[in-house]
Amino acid sequence: METYLKNILNQQKQANLYRTPKIHEKTFLNFSNNDYLGLANHPSLKATWQQAADKYGIGSGGSHLISGHTAAHHELETTLAAYTNRKRALLFSNGYMANLGVITSLVGRHDAIFLDKLNHASLIDAALLSRAKIHRYPHNDISHLAKLLAKSSAKHKLIITDGVFSMDGDIALLADIVEIANKYQAWLMVDDAHGLGVIGNNGGGSLEMYNLDAENVPILMGTLGKAFGVFGAFVAGSELLIETLIQSARSYIYTTALPPALAATIKTSITIAKQEQWRRQHLHELIKYFRSNAAKLKIPLMNSITPIQGIIIGDSKSATAASEALYEQGIIVTAIRPPTVPQGTARLRITFSALHDKKQVDELLAALVKII
Ligand SMILES: *Cc1c(COP(=O)(O)O)cnc(C)c1O
Repeated sequence: METYLKNILNQQKQANLYRTPKIHEKTFLNFSNNDYLGLANHPSLKATWQQAADKYGIGSGGSHLISGHTAAHHELETTLAAYTNRKRALLFSNGYMANLGVITSLVGRHDAIFLDKLNHASLIDAALLSRAKIHRYPHNDISHLAKLLAKSSAKHKLIITDGVFSMDGDIALLADIVEIANKYQAWLMVDDAHGLGVIGNNGGGSLEMYNLDAENVPILMGTLGKAFGVFGAFVAGSELLIETLIQSARSYIYTTALPPALAATIKTSITIAKQEQWRRQHLHELIKYFRSNAAKLKIPLMNSITPIQGIIIGDSKSATAASEALYEQGIIVTAIRPPTVPQGTARLRITFSALHDKKQVDELLAALVKII
């Protein structure tokens, strides 16, 4: 086995695809963080965490259906339902598990799933685990999706898309997808991990941007470790959807509930994300500032209005070298390589936070100009 593993790892190294988690020892200017609203270090979140730990202790002590479900979890679920304008919401330990749970609960062998080519890996894994027939359509190619739906004779059809695509930063064509879903009587699920809290006038995500409700998009999944700065995930929808998940989502049933103090902290975070509009406003000002100045400096950007701004480099070796050159200048911008992104599209993935300021964006631009 050791020989086999060594060979596999060597191949990864030779292809410039080897990955290592890194601890950053000194202070860097970080443009590779999903803490879009800058809530991860918020004093109110820290205070809630400490108070709730005093009240509830640390571990939940069990799964939700055994003894791990507390008032803190319940209140958070109510808050999440209100935040997303839905009847109910159900907490999961993380986004990966939420996607596994909801998709395997809703479809099986005689059904079909329709996925955008750029959907998050957890959605692809969930689709595989469900045993439904999988159809993947080219990124945001709605006419291709329509053709696949027209041809399918599956009992149930489930369309799944990211709201904001995690590596490109562009937004799904949700209005068109809703129309197609209605036409072909398909169910629609949106994973809005990078949209909730960030886009839409009130941070309601990609659905708010398109003015879509629970009738248009019956299954909404969101994460709590990105814009909300904490950890965890949820699915929001109708009474019947959530009751179904409680009965059958295995990644909900067979796992320990989140620590109650974490649930309490997320609730505080949701409240602040909603109230403190300046965070979104400032974030979007920074994005505009970055994009207009990058254009002046002829830095080629992808088409995105979200905090995720990619610069395609092409091959993995050059992308890694660009990231390392920035690192030497004190700036963290991670290189994203295959298989996270398609072959030949290795890139720098820049993300902005409400805690950045224009001077820091200038620093980033100055550093980018030197290496692009
Ligand atoms: C991050 C992410 C997930 C996974 O969420 P975690 O809570 O980090 O497990 C799922 N879907 C998308 C689109 C994501 O970006």
